[in-house]
Amino acid sequence: MTITDQVETTKKPNPNAPTQETVLSVQHYTDRLFKFRLTRPQSFRFRSGEFIMIGLPGENGKPLLRAYSVASPNWDDTLEFYSIKVPDGPLTSRLQKIEQGDAVLLGRKPVGTLVLDALTPARRLYMFSTGTGFAPFASLIRDPAVYEAFDEVIVTHTCRDVAELAYSQETVEAFLADPDIGEIGAGKLRLYDSCTRESYPRTGRVTDLIRSGKLFEDLGIPRLDPATDRAMICGSIDMTKELKGVMESHGLKEGSNSEPADFVIERAFVG
Ligand SMILES: Cc1cc2nc3c(=O)[nH]c(=O)nc-3n(C[C@H](O)[C@H](O)[C@H](O)COP(=O)(O)OP(=O)(O)OC[C@H]3O[C@@H](n4cnc5c(N)ncnc54)[C@H](O)[C@@H]3O)c2cc1C
Repeated sequence: MTITDQVETTKKPNPNAPTQETVLSVQHYTDRLFKFRLTRPQSFRFRSGEFIMIGLPGENGKPLLRAYSVASPNWDDTLEFYSIKVPDGPLTSRLQKIEQGDAVLLGRKPVGTLVLDALTPARRLYMFSTGTGFAPFASLIRDPAVYEAFDEVIVTHTCRDVAELAYSQETVEAFLADPDIGEIGAGKLRLYDSCTRESYPRTGRVTDLIRSGKLFEDLGIPRLDPATDRAMICGSIDMTKELKGVMESHGLKEGSNSEPADFVIERAFVG
């Protein structure tokens, strides 16, 4: 036996290394968006709304990983993700080509602030999202714990084009129609979507729809009030910054895992 052989045989496996999961299904929505499902290791635990690192083996042997919100709820046997396709993106230029049976790397430490634990009790929960920022809410709206904690749940989704709203519409409709679990959201969950560039029944940015009061008129509910309302926000940096200002102007305070309060924020991507 050579010294190299000895070093290799005594090397311990890295307990934090990603696990290799299998792609179960892939569905493309537009040339910019797709969803996929992976096998879920039995040991993988997360809170609905959290994100995890996922990726593919890199060309240099090091894994190429990016943060992704888990879009499926924590009770699900498999893991769903909703993804952008960035044409020159190091990961998504390759990830968009995955097919059933392919391998995808899954990190071991889910984290995040878009969790029920970071909010104090109230009557109504808003989830405000743009683009792939809907992903953590796709997880939360399918979690019974959300409906135990809140009487009313309003999830908003704003995109540029109508076709980009398909995933949120499909997810909400499928959940409410599910014979096993849909009943828990019936009469409580409402999707309020809008488009910024194409003609649609609701047009404009959610911040403008809040400021003008149209969102509240359309839904038939009072304006934001810290006594009754809590919010989760996930979108671009501009959207999250602007909505934070809107929340604060209505008297809501930002919370975190260590200090639960009235609203929480997570950026849907960096850059
Ligand atoms: C906490 C967190 C959670 C995330 N969850 C998701 C998720 O659920 N789904 C998802 O698709 N992405 C998510 N992202 C973004 C993701 O980590 C990657 O940036 C994305 O997959 C693109 O990877 P890439 O290597 O191809 O390009 P990158 O080099 O990572 O990004 C290149 C550029 O593409 C743009 N971009 C990246 N991601 C997005 C996006 N989601 N929407 C619009 N523009 C984007 C940005 O301008 C960025 O600078 C999340 C990021 C963070 C920080």
